[in-house]
Amino acid sequence: MADCAETIRELEAFLDSELAPEVRAGIQAHLGGCNDCLQAFDFHAELRTVISEKCRNDEMPAGLMSRIELCFNEDFDGDGDIG
Ligand SMILES: [Zn+2]
Repeated sequence: MADCAETIRELEAFLDSELAPEVRAGIQAHLGGCNDCLQAFDFHAELRTVISEKCRNDEMPAGLMSRIELCFNEDFDGDGDIG
């Protein structure tokens, strides 16, 4: 099973459905038992929806998404609780 660091590292690929089935299964198994990661994934998935809706008619500034993700990763590493 994937650990927290690996799970968060694969978050984007998971949401993009870019992972190999066995990696995806490992992450899903981890999310089943780790509320911190599950919340991070839920939050990230929700954020993607909001951003894609808000930016439907606007261009996303270059690098914005990566800066946002950097903040989340720092939050997650900081106290282990994103919510
Ligand atoms: Zn975890």
